[in-house]
Amino acid sequence: MTGSVEELTLDPEDWESFRKSTHDAVDVMTDYLRDVRSRPAWQPVPSDVAGKFESACPESPQGLDSSLADFYRDVLPFPSGNIHPRFWSWVCGTGSPTGMLSEFLAAGMNSIGLGFDESASSHVEVQVLEWLKSLMGFESDTSGLLVSGGSMANLVALTVGRNLKCGYDVRRLGMNPHGFPRVAAYASTETHSSVQKALELLGVGETFYRRIPVNGDYEIDVRALRDQIESDIAEGLRPALLIGNAGTVNTGAFDPLNVLADIAEEFDLWFTVDGAFGSLARLTNRAPENLKGLNRADALAFDLHKWLHQPYNAGAVLIRNGDAHRNSFSVAPAYLTRDRSGVASGPADFSALGIQLSRSFVALRVWLSFKTHGVGQFRKLIEQNIEQARYLEARVGETPHLELLAPTPLNIVNYRYNPDGLDEEALNQLNGKILTALQTGGIAAPSSTRLVGRFSIRVCIANHRTRRHDLDELVKHTVELGEELARTDR
Ligand SMILES: *Cc1c(COP(=O)(O)O)cnc(C)c1O
Repeated sequence: MTGSVEELTLDPEDWESFRKSTHDAVDVMTDYLRDVRSRPAWQPVPSDVAGKFESACPESPQGLDSSLADFYRDVLPFPSGNIHPRFWSWVCGTGSPTGMLSEFLAAGMNSIGLGFDESASSHVEVQVLEWLKSLMGFESDTSGLLVSGGSMANLVALTVGRNLKCGYDVRRLGMNPHGFPRVAAYASTETHSSVQKALELLGVGETFYRRIPVNGDYEIDVRALRDQIESDIAEGLRPALLIGNAGTVNTGAFDPLNVLADIAEEFDLWFTVDGAFGSLARLTNRAPENLKGLNRADALAFDLHKWLHQPYNAGAVLIRNGDAHRNSFSVAPAYLTRDRSGVASGPADFSALGIQLSRSFVALRVWLSFKTHGVGQFRKLIEQNIEQARYLEARVGETPHLELLAPTPLNIVNYRYNPDGLDEEALNQLNGKILTALQTGGIAAPSSTRLVGRFSIRVCIANHRTRRHDLDELVKHTVELGEELARTDR
């Protein structure tokens, strides 16, 4: 009877041929990372290639080797670019060969990430969280969770803060029950958009998300913050959430965290720090003065896929009040209870600390790369980038017709090409063209922003492959392109 039924599996019929294809992939990918510098910093996906991604979902098998050939030909040559030494757009990490390997290993184990599944994966994750807490200066009874990235980390941290400070049982009643004041949240105008998303999702609403102006260094104006809180109290609102920045996206600015912690104490606010990349400066001797006070935050959100170069995506949130953390997310259906023994007797319950239930084995990446390279290497790499940013700042400062557009407190340099005699609008146009030419020429990939209305070429160095000569190239090409484009424009 059993012999006559055809039963399927995704395992290969021929394991040796699978082994061969996988070995080949290892060779391809090792060369790919080794030779990354010889390729353009970035290139667009050609339209004939893009067209191939419109074909319908295949019903019948194409086979592994043929599918891999499609990948090598159509996908692999066109990455985002952040693995390249001259990619400095947004805030991006580089990843690493160790990280690449850890993805492979983790996918092979395919752990489920519940924490209460009794598996080495759960224990590794608990250990990694302990490491992260101590690196960031949080006590060991701090609660923490690995999440998809800074956006999710901010959402988790703000959820806990809202639930604790809104003044009613929001899990039971929902937001804004009759008879209670509206909750208000505070952050500088330079704060990342993920905070706005989180506050909207949490039912605070954009109107009650108070955007506080910044000073000339792009740090929150503390006086204006205090005034806004006091006037909100006078109007019957309930100030509840204060978000401090440790490294803003535009310029890498740090709000004065100690001052914010004082204000949070005075007004009984939940004080959460968005330290997506900037908080990692804590690992170095180059931490800006304003980062002091991080150890007074109720919560910290930061990324592992940016300045710690873990493969996308990986972030973490640390929350000092473990009870408040658990009380925000814990739901215990009968089918998900932790047991004293057996498969459900693992060391933690991560689903009680966040939104996701099943999660990939992100912890293995961190574990393997910290063990392989030592945390000391990551400290030095972060320092190296900070020093490179200072180097670029100095190069821009000494180069005729280049102009710095903001201070460089950390690893982000903002500048433009400014030949004499152009008005602001013409400068914006010209620098937009320079940036496009840098990118499409495959020379380098900074991104852009606007600072007080000025178009800025924005160079964020969170890249362990960048060398100073790459920054020299950037300066040289900016000037050459600037001269050429200014000439053809006239
Ligand atoms: C990148 C970033 C975020 C969002 O993090 P994701 O990992 O992209 O979700 C939030 N805040 C700051 C300051 C960032 O740089």
